[in-house]
Amino acid sequence: MQQDIWKILAFMSVAAAFGLVSGQLLAALLVCSLMVIAWYVYRLQQLYRWLRNPTNEPLPTNSGLFYLIFREISRRNTKYSARKRQLKSHLAQFQRAAGVIPDAIVLIDADNKIEWANNNAARLLGIEWPRDAKLRFTDLVRNPACAALLEQPDAQESGIEVSLSRNRDRTLNMSCAKYTTELRMVMARDVSHLVKVNALHKQFVANVSHELKTPLTVLKGYLEILQSHPQLAPVLQSPIEQMTQQSERMEIIVADLLYLSRLEHTEGASQQQPLEVTQLINGVVESVQSLIANKHHKLELDIDYEVSLIGNQAELHSAFCNILNNAIRYTDAGGIIKIRWQKRADGAMFSIKDNGIGIPAHAIPSLTRRFYRVNDDRSREDGGTGLGLAIVKHVLQRHDAQLEIISELGQGSEFRCLFPSQRVSRQNYQMQIKDQ
Ligand code: ADP
Repeated sequence: MQQDIWKILAFMSVAAAFGLVSGQLLAALLVCSLMVIAWYVYRLQQLYRWLRNPTNEPLPTNSGLFYLIFREISRRNTKYSARKRQLKSHLAQFQRAAGVIPDAIVLIDADNKIEWANNNAARLLGIEWPRDAKLRFTDLVRNPACAALLEQPDAQESGIEVSLSRNRDRTLNMSCAKYTTELRMVMARDVSHLVKVNALHKQFVANVSHELKTPLTVLKGYLEILQSHPQLAPVLQSPIEQMTQQSERMEIIVADLLYLSRLEHTEGASQQQPLEVTQLINGVVESVQSLIANKHHKLELDIDYEVSLIGNQAELHSAFCNILNNAIRYTDAGGIIKIRWQKRADGAMFSIKDNGIGIPAHAIPSLTRRFYRVNDDRSREDGGTGLGLAIVKHVLQRHDAQLEIISELGQGSEFRCLFPSQRVSRQNYQMQIKDQ
């Protein structure tokens, strides 16, 4: 750069000397300046021509300020080209990897327009890349549940299961995750096999439970006869009593299993009439009266009489009974159990809170699994089947509701059933709930 300044100064000095000798100083300086400007314009033109095709043309100069500019641009170009090649190769690798994943992957923008799709998107969703580029995902995959999935702002943990009209026999698990502010990734996995195995498993359990019913009834009948027999040897009294107790337990387990299976195999809660929740809660409380009295628990009720629930009375009775039963069983004698039914901004909440033994945090996510118990012995001693909360979960699912469990070991537990606003209505009736 300094070189250029010296050159211009030298050129101007020569022009000034020539001007002084010829008596035309101003004219000489003017001509000299015009020549310098013309020379720079010429170099700029060269730069422009070279920039339009920098790879094919050699650098038009090899010294001075313009040489430095050409060289810097050329260096950056080379670096950019290498980076571009590297990114292209990464992209190709990613696309090949995404191609061998058995799931369908589709990238969509904020308007649900397709930005990219892997090979399996054609097989599972009928979306072909690049044929369907920029088409709307929801126009190609027409399914209300899918459309609702894309509307949700946050990614869901487990996704949704859908059967698309293009292949009704196939069940897909679909999920959608946002990975930039604009782009989202829709993933679809074929879970038909899992669904079939699951259905077979449930059917098997239902069949076994059903088959056990008759032999159990016969067994219980004979045990009752034996128990009341006047000549029963004293040594047999205790074993027969235990056999009767165990057969009763088995009967309850079979009944719970059959009930669970009915919940799984029939459509969602059919009754759509508003229920009188006060009546429902009265029924639940009445069914556990003797248990409460035996353990000397104090029952507190906080009920909003005007809020009613749309659902199935028998199913909700069974779910609420299970929760209340647990609260009574897992709280030591003289405990306090609070039942609440309240309106909330997003629906309504039925809650049962106890000051019982509590649940360790690690066990809470597993509580609704069949036969899961924190303490096997305590549950069995108290006549638990390990199916109560699985039933609660299913009933709540059928009412679009969620179960929230808050608990602290040694302090107590709260089981909250959260009903969405479409399941809740306000009624102007006043029912007297039995005060305990
Ligand atoms: P169970 O018939 O064994 O009670 P559930 O499905 O009703 O089966 O409950 C599963 C497990 O959850 C129970 O075994 C118990 O360990 C735990 N549990 C449920 N409710 C409570 C509660 N209110 N307090 C403490 N533990 C509870």
